[in-house]
Amino acid sequence: MTLKLQKQCIETVLAMHEQRAGACLPEPYETEFWVYHQKRAIDSFLKFCKLGGMIYLCLAIFITFRNYSIIPLTDLHHDFWRSAVSTLNGGICLLVLVLAARHPKAQTYFRYFALLIVGWAIFLTAVLTLSQYTSSLRQQFVFIIFIFIFGYIMTGVKPLHMFVVGLIASAAIFAMFFYLHISFDSVVLLRVFFGSNLIGFAITKVINHQEKGSFLKTKLIEVDQEILKNYNHQLLKLSQYDGLTSIANRRSLDDALERYYALAQAEHCPLAVVFIDIDYFKAYNDHYGHLQGDQVLKCIAQVIQRTIRHQDFVARYGGEEFVVLLPNTDVDQAYLAASRISRAVDELQIHHEKSEIGQYITISLGLAVYTVEYPISANQLLSFADRALYRAKACGRHQICQHVISDEDHDIEPKQKAT
Ligand code: GH3
Ligand code: MG
Ligand code: MG
Repeated sequence: MTLKLQKQCIETVLAMHEQRAGACLPEPYETEFWVYHQKRAIDSFLKFCKLGGMIYLCLAIFITFRNYSIIPLTDLHHDFWRSAVSTLNGGICLLVLVLAARHPKAQTYFRYFALLIVGWAIFLTAVLTLSQYTSSLRQQFVFIIFIFIFGYIMTGVKPLHMFVVGLIASAAIFAMFFYLHISFDSVVLLRVFFGSNLIGFAITKVINHQEKGSFLKTKLIEVDQEILKNYNHQLLKLSQYDGLTSIANRRSLDDALERYYALAQAEHCPLAVVFIDIDYFKAYNDHYGHLQGDQVLKCIAQVIQRTIRHQDFVARYGGEEFVVLLPNTDVDQAYLAASRISRAVDELQIHHEKSEIGQYITISLGLAVYTVEYPISANQLLSFADRALYRAKACGRHQICQHVISDEDHDIEPKQKAT
């Protein structure tokens, strides 16, 4: 799917989501949301687990001492261990959840761990508190509300799943109390269990609705950024490469020349520049048409690119002219490189009926080499290569001319005909 289409899809889903509270998102957004939501829940759970653990520990110590002090001596044996196990169970449940959240493999199954542990914590806490003889301790079963809130808000599981687990745990407690003939106030119990389960469900539904909205908005921003990145990439490409031939353009040549020249100066190495121009190209265009001429330009650009070394640089200077930079290349090596390029173009055997020097497309080349002995500027180097090309044209085309740099710097002479 293209990025623009993706953006349109997300915008539509977002608009639908804002109108229909509580509804599931269309796939794959719903699945993606829960993966994202679960991950966020695990992250914030891990972030706050130390603080939560400390608070729980302080609370557990306080509750244990307090319970010990309020349990009548006659019931101490029966009630105290129930209260201690209930508190300890809460701590162990938290610890198991932290371990599951930390372990990368267990993270995949975190929601199952969370559902199981929350269900277990509700069940055991209810059984241990409600079976105590001391009436004030029995009232502590309202702590179950906190377990529900924790399960719904901190674990990041789907509210419906947590609701079902809450129902199962509550049903199991009721069944157990009936089975063991433990007397309990069923109205209060129903209020606590089903009331807190329902409230937890409703609250998380509202929170998740908002979370889904911010999830979609985040996705929209991500797609927008991706679109922007692509635009920037395309702009950069347009500013650096020639649209027709896909090789570097004049602007890149200027940058490359500056870099190669600075390197040659710093390392005292020669730098060769070759100027290339297609012979009788106007006549070619007039005879074969501009589209055919464009194909020739592309072909020749590719051939030059293929012929040079990976460290060399080729750019379309403009029109039907190309420039090649050959770092660390002396005059002889540059001449060989220029011959290779000329020969490679000849081998293309592109018919050119209107050429005055043969039946195929040919090129003329002018070269100049920077050396430490004759320090000239980068622009001078380029213009000397251009002058050498001019000379090659003047001497009959389809040949390589070299600008010999000297103290006087005026000597331009053809070396030999390119074959
Ligand atoms: P010479 O051998 O002296 O170089 O002759 P020439 O005809 O090649 O030289 P001139 O500079 O007169 O003509 C260059 C021609 O290149 C003119 C123009 O039609 C053609 N040209 C420049 N840019 C493009 C292009 O992008 N596509 C096509 N098809 N032709 C182009
Ligand atoms: Mg030309
Ligand atoms: Mg030209």
